[in-house]
Amino acid sequence: MTRFDGRVALVTGGASGIGKATARRIASEGGTVVIADVQDDLGAQVVAEIEKDGGKALFIHLDVTSEDGWNDAVAKTIETYGGLNILINNAGIGDNEPIEVTSLGTWDKVVAVTQTSVFLGMKAAAEALKKSGNGSVVNTSSMYGIVGSGVSPAYHAAKGAVRLLTKTTALGWAKEGVRVNSVHPGFIDTPILGETDRDMLIAGTPMGRLGRPEEIAALITFVASDDASFATGAEFVADGGVTA
Ligand code: NAD
Repeated sequence: MTRFDGRVALVTGGASGIGKATARRIASEGGTVVIADVQDDLGAQVVAEIEKDGGKALFIHLDVTSEDGWNDAVAKTIETYGGLNILINNAGIGDNEPIEVTSLGTWDKVVAVTQTSVFLGMKAAAEALKKSGNGSVVNTSSMYGIVGSGVSPAYHAAKGAVRLLTKTTALGWAKEGVRVNSVHPGFIDTPILGETDRDMLIAGTPMGRLGRPEEIAALITFVASDDASFATGAEFVADGGVTA
């Protein structure tokens, strides 16, 4: 018996980075995984990798900013696998400039993908998660949902909002058998870092290195699983010591 036997998990942003590592980890522990992302080719590739290892997975094209898209993705998951036990709201994008030069367009886009998506996802999945009897939601926030950095106003605002959206939903659902928690990574070596100077990030991390996506996947899957069965409304930080 492995941790995710008989459980169905939907992972947004599952085509890359932390989401991909999480999808692979859940599948490797017996879970059925729905990878929901806008990157169709990469998503299909993750499904193929999981299937090659003997796991079960499906790719669904989902733009997490679309309410209709969310309703369709949850309906397709239930139609295909009979239910939904775990929701990992992980898709996100960042901005990287001071507030003075951040456009309203950038603000709106980052908030839509990084914050509104989490609201839409939990709303769309609510009924199925409650019905499952062991529902669990993990929302990927960031250490920048806890402390500031001086730039990236939309990202900080969105990740801070995800932290409290997590807590209030956790309290609302505490008696309904659905746990809701947030995970707060530090600098993790994934494509989201783009052209950012990695040496600068490493210098700013007490442990002196970037995190690996698999290290965050290990934390997300712990929180999603029954190993964390008494944790709800909690925030789990893995940042190499940045916020210590
Ligand atoms: P990533 O760029 O590798 O993955 C992000 C994924 O989100 C991609 O697959 C992308 O296609 C998907 N995505 C973007 N917009 C989408 C949309 N509208 N609809 C559906 N999917 C969409 O980056 P990552 O580092 O794996 O990021 C995963 C999460 O971790 C994000 O929420 C990010 O903010 C958070 N995070 C990352 C770091 C880091 O240093 N890498 C640190 C803290 C938090």
